[in-house]
Amino acid sequence: MTRKNMKVSKQEIVDYWFSRVDECGLSVDTSEAHKRCWRCGCEKSLERCHIIPASLGGEDAASNLVLLCKRCHIENPNIADPEIMWDWLRAYGTTFYDTFWIKQGIKEYEFIYHKKFNDELKEKSIDLTKFFEIYNEEIQNTSYHYGHPYLNSATLAGVIRTTFKKYEVNYTVRQ
Ligand SMILES: [Zn+2]
Repeated sequence: MTRKNMKVSKQEIVDYWFSRVDECGLSVDTSEAHKRCWRCGCEKSLERCHIIPASLGGEDAASNLVLLCKRCHIENPNIADPEIMWDWLRAYGTTFYDTFWIKQGIKEYEFIYHKKFNDELKEKSIDLTKFFEIYNEEIQNTSYHYGHPYLNSATLAGVIRTTFKKYEVNYTVRQ
């Protein structure tokens, strides 16, 4: 079988799915589904991602495609049962745009350091505005492997850790 070079447009994919699936539980609304990733909700350039992988016979048709950013496309499930894609997308559904990756960073932080992020904030009486001022500075001290997504969960977890440390140095000790 020769593969045709004709691509389904992103708008066709949006129109196909958002007239059929309930957007509740996804990270995007219908109005922004053409420009925000269906998993993380970030406004990034989007890639067509097969629901059933091409190698398992999945077609290049709107009914077998969703729109994901590059980093989510790397992590998506590649399995012949199409329901798995929707289970995965909904499991990561987040109500607010642009909070997805920090949430992933927090999950990774809690896994590595065996501490609940919110408990640590309370325990150390942390001022969130000051915390995120430091966090945004610490983000500048990160890098990434060429070709890998920028700011993966492990990097964000590290940024949270160094932010806690700096916060302690800057505010707690002086009291
Ligand atoms: Zn994404």
